[in-house]
Amino acid sequence: MQLHQDIAIPANSDFTIYNIPFGVGQIDGVPHVCSRIGDFVVDLVACHAHGLLPVEGLDAGTLQSASLNRFIDQGKSVTNAVRLTLQSLLSSGASEVDKIKRCFHPVEEVPMLLPVHVGDYTDFYSSKEHATNLGKMFRDPANALLPNWLHIPVGYHGRASSIVVSGTPVRRPKGQMLPAGADTPVFGPSRLLDIELEMAFVVGKSNPLGSRIEVQDAASYLFGMALFNDWSARDIQKWEYIPLGPFLGKNFASTMSPWIVTMEALEPFRVQGPKQEPEVLDYLKIQGAHNYDIQLFADLITPSGAKKTITHTNFKYMYWNMSQQLAHHTVNGCNMQVGDLCASGTISGPEPGSYGSLLEITWRGEHPISIPDGTERKFLLDGDTITLRGYAERDGIRVGFGEASGKILPAG
Ligand code: MN
Repeated sequence: MQLHQDIAIPANSDFTIYNIPFGVGQIDGVPHVCSRIGDFVVDLVACHAHGLLPVEGLDAGTLQSASLNRFIDQGKSVTNAVRLTLQSLLSSGASEVDKIKRCFHPVEEVPMLLPVHVGDYTDFYSSKEHATNLGKMFRDPANALLPNWLHIPVGYHGRASSIVVSGTPVRRPKGQMLPAGADTPVFGPSRLLDIELEMAFVVGKSNPLGSRIEVQDAASYLFGMALFNDWSARDIQKWEYIPLGPFLGKNFASTMSPWIVTMEALEPFRVQGPKQEPEVLDYLKIQGAHNYDIQLFADLITPSGAKKTITHTNFKYMYWNMSQQLAHHTVNGCNMQVGDLCASGTISGPEPGSYGSLLEITWRGEHPISIPDGTERKFLLDGDTITLRGYAERDGIRVGFGEASGKILPAG
């Protein structure tokens, strides 16, 4: 498969012929389901109008929508066929390429919307390195993992309404915090505002209430993935989280990248996950390679424009894989719905340079990060921007996610 020579894309583009993700772009002010090649957005409504998407079962009405949900709900037989048709058009003869180029828009001219309407959002806690680091910091360095962690893909139900698309500013939250050494809380802007470098998967198929998704079947329920920053106010979180878990320290905003990269595009990057010891219960047992080798980065850009890459980690480190997360989520009969979002939890690797939160990178602020403009950071300051990036690459095939970016505004 070779992109036609008349279509120019930048070297190291995330959006190669092998990717062909889905998102929702505003074309002349109207939301259309779109794809992307290089620095061009491909308008699928226009493709269909030009007769370029002769896909059996495709309801063209689903392309004119403010979210991907109805498009996804047609099933992989349709969505995969659309993706393969686009790949074929982009790599075929000059006359076909001329036709599809009429559906191109420069990426800077197309505002992107949140790609899915998220009915429910769940955040897991599936990086062993992250859970271990937090256990060392806040509990017992000798017994950092809680007793359930190696048996359960631990998670909590998050807030869907405050998930925003990349580029949306994030206002510093206010809340209750307990100052060090104090007995009573104070109210004010969070002073320990942090990132959580995560990935999220979009559910592509529903299961009825009362049923469960078997771990062996779970992959067919995964539509695709995006970058996800689960912004976290550590001071609010620390005071509120016992006994029911995260609440206002998390639900003020989460930032998602606009392009959903399909599981089919990620297929070449499957790798074995870490060995799970002790052995997991039967309903979580799965053979084969269910992790993905995806390089992940977080850049911090200060108000002066200075930029520093503060972490480089990889999705392959996850202890619990997405099939196990979905099997666990539904083992009690919980129903998943198309467009639901499940985030991985902070992705930390084994080395200090691969931690996925400022809390871990600076070790609770004990080791501030030096920025090229001469300043330093323990946590985020007003005016700081965080941009997550990620891509997979193997044998000359590159598939990437673009970015999930957000700038911190002062507390209101
Ligand atoms: Mn999280």
